[in-house]
Amino acid sequence: MNKVIDKKLENNWHAEAINTVLDTLHVDADGLSRDEAAARLETCGPNRLPEPVKRSSIVRFLRHFHNILIYVLLASAVITASLEHMVDTLVILTVVVANAAIGFVQEGKAEKAMDAIRRMLALKASVVRDGNRRLIEGERLVPGDIVLLEAGDKVPADLRLLKAHGLKIQESIITGESAPVEKRTPQVAADASLGDRICMAYSGTLVTSGLGRGVVVATGCDTEIGRISGMLSTVETLTTPLVLQMNVFARWLTVLILLIATTLLVFGYFVQHFAFSEMFMAVVGLSVAAIPEGLPAVLTITLAVGVQAMARRRAIVRRLPAIETLGSVSVICSDKTGTLTRNEMMVASVVTQAHIFSLEGAGYEPRGVIKLNNATVSAREHVILEELGRSAALCNDASLHERDGVWIVEGDPMEGALLALSGKIDMDINEELAGWTRTDAIPFDAKHRFMATLNHDHENNAFISVKGAPEQILSMCNEQKTVFDGTEPLDTDYWYEKAECIAEQGQRVLAFAVKPVPPKHTVLEFVDVEDGLILLGLVGLLDPPRPEAIEAVAECQGAGIRVKMITGDHRGTAAAIGRQIGLQNPDAVLTGSDIDGMDDSALTAAILETDIFARTSPEHKLRLVMALQLHGLSVAMTGDGVNDAPALKRADVGIAMGMKGSETAKEASEFVLADDNFASIVAAVREGRTVYDNIKKVISWTLPTNAGEALTIVVALLFGMTLPITPIQILWVNLITAITLGIALAFEPTEADTMNRPPRPKNEPLLTGELAWHIVLVSVLFLGGVFGMFTYAVDRGYSLELARTIALNTLVVMEIFHLFFIRNIYGTSLTWMAVRGTKVVWSTVIGVTVAQFAITFLPPLQELFGTRTVPFFDGVLIVGVGVMLFAIIETEKQLRLRLHELRAM
Ligand code: ADP
Ligand code: MG
Repeated sequence: MNKVIDKKLENNWHAEAINTVLDTLHVDADGLSRDEAAARLETCGPNRLPEPVKRSSIVRFLRHFHNILIYVLLASAVITASLEHMVDTLVILTVVVANAAIGFVQEGKAEKAMDAIRRMLALKASVVRDGNRRLIEGERLVPGDIVLLEAGDKVPADLRLLKAHGLKIQESIITGESAPVEKRTPQVAADASLGDRICMAYSGTLVTSGLGRGVVVATGCDTEIGRISGMLSTVETLTTPLVLQMNVFARWLTVLILLIATTLLVFGYFVQHFAFSEMFMAVVGLSVAAIPEGLPAVLTITLAVGVQAMARRRAIVRRLPAIETLGSVSVICSDKTGTLTRNEMMVASVVTQAHIFSLEGAGYEPRGVIKLNNATVSAREHVILEELGRSAALCNDASLHERDGVWIVEGDPMEGALLALSGKIDMDINEELAGWTRTDAIPFDAKHRFMATLNHDHENNAFISVKGAPEQILSMCNEQKTVFDGTEPLDTDYWYEKAECIAEQGQRVLAFAVKPVPPKHTVLEFVDVEDGLILLGLVGLLDPPRPEAIEAVAECQGAGIRVKMITGDHRGTAAAIGRQIGLQNPDAVLTGSDIDGMDDSALTAAILETDIFARTSPEHKLRLVMALQLHGLSVAMTGDGVNDAPALKRADVGIAMGMKGSETAKEASEFVLADDNFASIVAAVREGRTVYDNIKKVISWTLPTNAGEALTIVVALLFGMTLPITPIQILWVNLITAITLGIALAFEPTEADTMNRPPRPKNEPLLTGELAWHIVLVSVLFLGGVFGMFTYAVDRGYSLELARTIALNTLVVMEIFHLFFIRNIYGTSLTWMAVRGTKVVWSTVIGVTVAQFAITFLPPLQELFGTRTVPFFDGVLIVGVGVMLFAIIETEKQLRLRLHELRAM
């Protein structure tokens, strides 16, 4: 690029006139050609900031040794080595390295998952290339590209503005100033500070209102944000409040265990007079058994699995803590158009002063039949239709293209449908558009609900064309077009009745109006359209509900989640769609003006039983969220526009639309829906519940298992008994089970009845009394099983080694059965589905079993671990103990579930 850009100009774009800038960058109003853009991309590199510096693999690997338990183990290895217990030293070191290796590998996978998700959120930019407007990846922008900006966009590169229409940009990321700055195009003084360069738009800043167009002057690291990006590159760690608390808990637990271990060491050595080396090894075994060293890693993996599962269901997580919140969502407030409906629009009816036409056709094909009273008519016989068709084409920002016989829309689907309407009215859209020049426009805004364009032709004609919500347009008209191309006073009642009638069929209603102006009139202002408009007619657009949204709404009802629809559409349209998708109470509709007339307490009282909010502006959303939260509900809210940001931020879970959503909305949200589909929200809720359950399962499996193992050693030491399992064997068990079996739970699929349960209360603690009880019960059963089998073996006259081998195997078998129990904490574990398990579960179980067989039967390992071959009958007995454990805890769970039901009655 160096050849193309004059060095003198660099950093001084703001002080140059537009033409100088364009000349320097060798570009004109048609933008770059495709080839030129590709060539510049080659020389300048992608428009992307360097990735935050990641720690090197070696550092990341070593970091897994930075942990109290590992330090304890390493110290123990030194001590055992000095005591010349080389086998112990070896086993300890193996445990340490294996632990770090597994943590390292899994962490790497989790990080890759997060990177992939970040890429899914990559910025898009609207550019003009070869004279056409196109949407490209922000990374592919090059200096010289012409970029279009609109409210809600994030500026994709540093731009010198060429046009600005009410353009305001919030630049706090660069200047620290949070009030939006009004932008204009004339150059400013060379020494103006960043905040005063009003003819520039800087990469990373947010467009809060208006429209603009600018030429890219710097990309990637050359942008202003690129220069300071060192300060911004933070790496998000994979964690949530719950997991964080769990990690803190695990750390304190470690401290407590070490204190107990030291006390036992002193007690055993001085009071019980055990040999130091024996006592020391026992205490190390105890620490390894009790400290949940694998827990933080497994929880991280659980989250990563959840994040990926959600991404597969088209819900992309922007803020990780939201994964937990999602499971507790009790109300989903959803946009209608495009989320509950398909946003594949088609004009189905046209109402003029005298007639109601109905239209037929397929998709966006600009050809089809127009009918009046069931008879096909020609548009040429109805002058007023032609006029409507012209307005539909001129007051429009979309374009239609035919690709392989299919017509597709670039831009708003509703406007695409209006272009198709013009085509059906027998107009040549391109010819019509070529004949008129748009001199100015007022863009659509959900707040004022209309859009206007000012059009001039070459024969000194000029007129304003306006389209929008009927109430809005009617208030701006005082005349209506007659079928004979004349005008007459506006018959408001007629139009209101017709609008109501179309809306009741679930069609979105738009009104069209025009106003002739003198040719000298070239600037469009709000006052120009305030009154004096001539109404042309109404257009009704069909937008059918998404079938999968209907299913998802039903699923929500089963899951105790209320669905509310919030739309800018007409109340009749909203109610009809609400009925079609199966909302609970589609007849009670509150409109934006109803809400304005209510104070907060009235709104709070009405909100629970109202499922449809029509003709709302984005501002209403915030009030709705707050009113719902006053009822203690956990609210998920969708949004797409700039003005939705406050409500999205305030909601417990803000969900932005990935396709039609603005960058501002995405920035304010916890989730982005890649397909804008309501069904994806519900899928994400299901995944959210699953992740929370799995976190709970990991904890419910790990804590009692560890406690059971530890208790066995503590009891033996306290009572001066022979250890039923040697310290080295405990190390082995931990090595092969804690990380393998524990991780299996991170991959657990959704339980069958997950979406038949009510949402988890917002502040429900994780460590409930029930979980505490489970820990106690299972620890005691483990203790009983291990000691029972050990005593049985000793009584049979078996050698101490064989008795220990039996005890060891009993412990592992009980852990496996406990795992199968934990897989279904809500339902029964005795279904085919539950027994069949998952691939991960079975591969870990098989792995552990093979390892147990090896240590029990292979002579070299027998040598190392002091084990003996277990007779067949005793092997069956060991499995029997596992079955007993399972039977007891499963029965206990069923009792508890029945008790819950009784209490609920
Ligand atoms: P929704 O919540 O269904 O997306 P919007 O806020 O987009 O509703 O639109 C509200 C109303 O504004 C529509 O019912 C329609 O009458 C009008 N409207 C929507 N888009 C446009 C547009 N591009 N130009 C003019 N009017 C529009
Ligand atoms: Mg909309």
